[in-house]
Amino acid sequence: MRQDAGTGKGGARSGLNIVMLGPPGAGKGTQAERLAQKRQWPRISTGDILREAVQQGVSIGEVARLAMDAGRLVSDDVMICIVEERLNRPDARTGFVLDGFPRTVEQAAALDRMVDGRGPLVVLDVVVPEDVLVRRLATRRICAQCGSNAAVNWTTACEKCGGKLVARVDDGDDIVRERLKVYQRQSKPLVDYYSTRGTLRSIDGNQPADVVTAAVDAAIEGAAAAGGVGL
Ligand code: ADP
Repeated sequence: MRQDAGTGKGGARSGLNIVMLGPPGAGKGTQAERLAQKRQWPRISTGDILREAVQQGVSIGEVARLAMDAGRLVSDDVMICIVEERLNRPDARTGFVLDGFPRTVEQAAALDRMVDGRGPLVVLDVVVPEDVLVRRLATRRICAQCGSNAAVNWTTACEKCGGKLVARVDDGDDIVRERLKVYQRQSKPLVDYYSTRGTLRSIDGNQPADVVTAAVDAAIEGAAAAGGVGL
């Protein structure tokens, strides 16, 4: 098994690489964004990358749209290729927050190969009961213009850019049920995959967002101390 010690090539300690796990609606995206901003690491959201590809009409976007609209996963080959290219950019060399990848054990094995020789991989599993997820997804709104998640209140415009708030196509009832099923089948095994390492942390996501943020922070500090990585 590969080592998750923080020693990069040449013995240098080189940042933390964060993976956010958790079902759709667990709040991964919000927490990943806060964490990335606080630590100045890039947030890499595969859902955002795919939605952008759909909007731009590039060839990969059409394949992605069909899978996303049905609540299914995009193929491992395509996802691995996208993430590998993104992690090789300079801003991701000294730490990143991955949101939405890996989603299968095959993707996790590929990620291990990609980060070999970099800082430790810290996996945060955001846990939320299923009935809460279904409720959250039914009321979730995103900005049609900038794509950010909106707090559910009575406003109809995005606080960041003033864009219109809309439901995500894949947050419809049937598709949500399919996404949760897919999560149970393909992504839950990831917790087992990572559980034998000392760097998996479980986070209670069924709390107010600020409380979850504090728990995420504490987990990161703990993981950094254990890996001998300065923050
Ligand atoms: P959520 O976590 O709420 O399901 P995301 O925005 O992360 O939403 O992803 C939306 C959709 O994009 C997924 O349902 C899936 O179709 C596709 N997708 C995102 N990341 C991956 C991935 N790593 N592997 C396969 N499909 C993915």
